[in-house]
Amino acid sequence: MKHTLTLALLLLLATAAHADRVRVRIYSNNTVSNINISFDLGAYNLYADGNRLVEDMITEGRSVTIQPQAGKLRLRVGETDYGTVSTLRLEATDTACILCLNPDGAKQRTYEGDLEISPAKNGSLLIINDVEFETYIAGVVQSEIYGKQTDIFRIQAIISRTWALRNSTKHRPEGYNFCDHVHCQAYLNRCIRPDIMMGAIQSSGETLVDSDGKLIETPFHSNSGGQTANSEDVWRTALPYLRSVQDTFSFHMRQSDWTKTVSIDRWLNYFATKHKLNTKDPAIRDSLLHFTQTERKKRLLGVPLTRIRVDFQLKSTFFSVQVDSSSNNIVIHGHGYGHGVGLSQEGAIRMVGLGISYDSILRHYYTGAVLHHDPSANRNYVENYVTQIARIIEEDKHKQTQTRSKKDDWLGRLFRLRDREEREEIYVESEQENDKDWQYEW
Ligand SMILES: [Zn+2]
Repeated sequence: MKHTLTLALLLLLATAAHADRVRVRIYSNNTVSNINISFDLGAYNLYADGNRLVEDMITEGRSVTIQPQAGKLRLRVGETDYGTVSTLRLEATDTACILCLNPDGAKQRTYEGDLEISPAKNGSLLIINDVEFETYIAGVVQSEIYGKQTDIFRIQAIISRTWALRNSTKHRPEGYNFCDHVHCQAYLNRCIRPDIMMGAIQSSGETLVDSDGKLIETPFHSNSGGQTANSEDVWRTALPYLRSVQDTFSFHMRQSDWTKTVSIDRWLNYFATKHKLNTKDPAIRDSLLHFTQTERKKRLLGVPLTRIRVDFQLKSTFFSVQVDSSSNNIVIHGHGYGHGVGLSQEGAIRMVGLGISYDSILRHYYTGAVLHHDPSANRNYVENYVTQIARIIEEDKHKQTQTRSKKDDWLGRLFRLRDREEREEIYVESEQENDKDWQYEW
């Protein structure tokens, strides 16, 4: 009886632990033909095809190199060649372990948690980070939004958590929960900034739900241009909480306005050939060359603006068209960046700067949504970490160099698990705004 109870308890713990973790495919947008892994903090066990491969634990100073080879993995640990294996798993021995990944042809990144590697179909590597759910969320927040105030990160954490909980089966057939780019949510590094971790931890247990208590869809975009879009104007489904709202908070930000020049010939030819419009007709021609939006519209002469946006690679559908009389061009004047549905990140950044509360900001962008606090979220845990991170942020303020680099690892300081040498890690904020990323938000 005692054994049964112990077993039941173990199973319960195993289930609970599993529910708190996610599997994220990293470097999902890259073809990785060689990767070197080093170990920044903590100790790892290495398993090949389910068997522990290296007797002692792998720690700082050692490295693992993996290459795809004839449908298998070629493995080297330090100077030792272990031949080929089918799958590899690097298992962290505690919560403060950090891996550093150096693939050929892509940027170095660091992650917490476990790593699983197997051959991918295209001769590349399938690399999965098996990580605690909240650690993943903090990494997403760092990859998805810029800013200074903690509430900006709290807002992003709430919408990213809500999205992840609602969409956790998105990649189930492929054997993981999420990819690491904007098809799911960007997760381009572990969170290395204490202020971002502060926002994520303060939001623990917070999600957005509808009036029935169900998690809502929480799309977001860079900048609405002054008015958000209805969900059905961009996608098929009309959702009651994704309504178009006036959003002057998105004015005067980095992504508020843009222009693009296109030749008149190319513009008219596009509508004539692709959408069968008679551009010789003066009225049609006039409509195409003098299109204006003071409020968001859905179509231009029946052509969805979303189609035009993709075909001309425009930053948004919220644009007007003018003829440039000095050339044979039109100038497209646009507002905002992104699909326009749900939360405008730059609008939210401005609202936080104006002192508006994070829950009011969420209600502004998600009409009628309710902020749900999970009653099982351990508030003592949250308060404990908020206090400790606040102390670290305060200590950092008094450091001589005011750069974004962390001379010593704040996560290690937080968990106090073992001594370690000083290390440096820099997160380049501007890379979040990489234009390429935005092409995938469709
Ligand atoms: Zn994905």
